[in-house]
Amino acid sequence: MPSVVAHELLDTLNRDYERLHTAKEDAFWTAYMGLTSDPAAARAELDRREIALRRCLQDPARLALVREQLRRLESEGGAGAGRADDETLVALRGWEATFAAHAIADAGARELGESIVAAEGRIANARGAMTLGYREPAGGRPGEFVPASSVRLGAMLLSEPDAARRKAAWDGLRSIETCVLEHGFLDIVRQRNRFGRQLGGEDYYDAVVRRVEGLSKRQIFDWLDELERATRDAGRRAVEALSAERGERATPWNLRYWAAGDVTREQDAWFPFSEALRRWGRSFAALGIEYQGATLVLDLLDRQGKHENGFMHGPVPAWREHGRWRPARIQFTANAIPGLTGAGRRAFETLFHEGGHAAHYSNIDMPAPCFSQEFAPSSVAFSETQSMFLDSLLGDADWQARYATTRDGEPMPPALIEKGVRARQPLAAWELRQRLSVCYGEKALYEIPEAELTPQRALETLREVERRLLFLDEGSPRPILSVPHLISGESSAYYHGYVLAEIAVEQTRDFFLRRDGRLTDNPRVGPSLREAYWKPGNSRRFADLVQGLTGAPLTARHLAARVNRTADEAAAQARAELARAAGAAGRGGAAARPEPVRLGASIRVVHGNETIASTEGRTFEECAAAFADFVTRQERAAG
Ligand SMILES: [Zn+2]
Repeated sequence: MPSVVAHELLDTLNRDYERLHTAKEDAFWTAYMGLTSDPAAARAELDRREIALRRCLQDPARLALVREQLRRLESEGGAGAGRADDETLVALRGWEATFAAHAIADAGARELGESIVAAEGRIANARGAMTLGYREPAGGRPGEFVPASSVRLGAMLLSEPDAARRKAAWDGLRSIETCVLEHGFLDIVRQRNRFGRQLGGEDYYDAVVRRVEGLSKRQIFDWLDELERATRDAGRRAVEALSAERGERATPWNLRYWAAGDVTREQDAWFPFSEALRRWGRSFAALGIEYQGATLVLDLLDRQGKHENGFMHGPVPAWREHGRWRPARIQFTANAIPGLTGAGRRAFETLFHEGGHAAHYSNIDMPAPCFSQEFAPSSVAFSETQSMFLDSLLGDADWQARYATTRDGEPMPPALIEKGVRARQPLAAWELRQRLSVCYGEKALYEIPEAELTPQRALETLREVERRLLFLDEGSPRPILSVPHLISGESSAYYHGYVLAEIAVEQTRDFFLRRDGRLTDNPRVGPSLREAYWKPGNSRRFADLVQGLTGAPLTARHLAARVNRTADEAAAQARAELARAAGAAGRGGAAARPEPVRLGASIRVVHGNETIASTEGRTFEECAAAFADFVTRQERAAG
């Protein structure tokens, strides 16, 4: 029985991979959450474990072994020999795809890859150690330097009423660019390009997307170019209209504030940070989302020394080992700042977003762990489709009518819901272009000829992209090189995934709305996503999965139509949603949903090394109450 050999090979691969993956991910969490007093040592430990995992995945001998077993099984007609052998074939094909996405035949290229990881570690340390903040403009203490994370600086652009202080916050974000350029980012770009060409790509960007998405850089940007053309007029009109309305030229530090600053503050009381966990649990449970026994660890508050961007990582991948279910352990993080205007809304967005990633990865039901890890050949665009579909619900009028209440349980008035929709719609196309600008800027960096790659040339290139996409002389509110994805190895050449995901999100929303008439509290959403999107893991490609659920090839039509609506059109749709939701509640629909919340997950909320709330021996409601208490205390302390 040659398949005995295949079984042994599979068991070894599964075991070795799980061990290396979990070890690396636990070190990742320690380093990124700033859990030790020695960040450099934590980072060094992470780099060591990351290199051990990479060596396993990049080893061409493993790919050869898997292919040899596959060939033998296939030539012996293994697929017809029963369920166990079918499973073996499926698992081997998964490993083949995984090793093919990582294997590096050339030893020199493997070495170069490792030296890039080390350089990325050094730049991450420099970025973590920089004194980031803003200089207080005129007023009480002019010239005083106020330390602030990039998260806080970004939030100030949205909600700080004083224009000079918003400008100071934007200058703070620009200083991140200077910092990473001074600490060798362009050397990393050069090394990455050399590495990408050794892998057979045009440059680093091209090589990465070929491995991760199975698409060339050209294919991806053909898609983005189409969206760029479709949103150009609406984007420019929005900037011109806001400038005309205010009687002054729009700048990166006033555009978003003009558009939505007032309404962000007005709606703030209906998004109390302390309620975020409870409403996330209720809303996901009402969608029929189940975590299949997973353990979820959540670290939601901003903290000195913690990575300044929300993410989800799965230290223990979900899979089925010889028929036995192995639930996931998933950890996710946000950077909410208690007491800051807009912090509650951002906390909701992150919980829905990262909780959406966690739902996806907890539900992958395949016979090997390679299908349910979040790296290549798992598609970034497809992963983001899950999280962005779920965080999109927060902007829906019917979701806000159902869940957005003050601390005292007062629902948001319909007029305020409509006001929010009216305020945000005019910039929708422009916001999409802001994300496009990051993609075009990153692509352009890797296309600067090596001899011309100086900090000045890099910045000129980025500013040119920002002006072209955003119609603002000074550039983007989010300077391209301040986006952490570009710096970190695992999320570089990645940002287009968000834009492709937005395309798929609109198509998915359109599918559910046509089939079921609603998204909020629709209990058929979770089971449908589980069957069509989640269970197959990375065994199927992004566009195939979207077509599998929605029945249509991937198309940007729905997204372009949504962002190009006028404020009046968006408001009319919101009113229709509200009327329908009120009708359903009147008939005992959504509002009759029973407690308690069941998510099929064991949840632990932590703040660094401290556990602040947990479902261990408690109900979800008790855990959510403990979280609310903790946040309320933090808010009081923040004054
Ligand atoms: Zn995401």
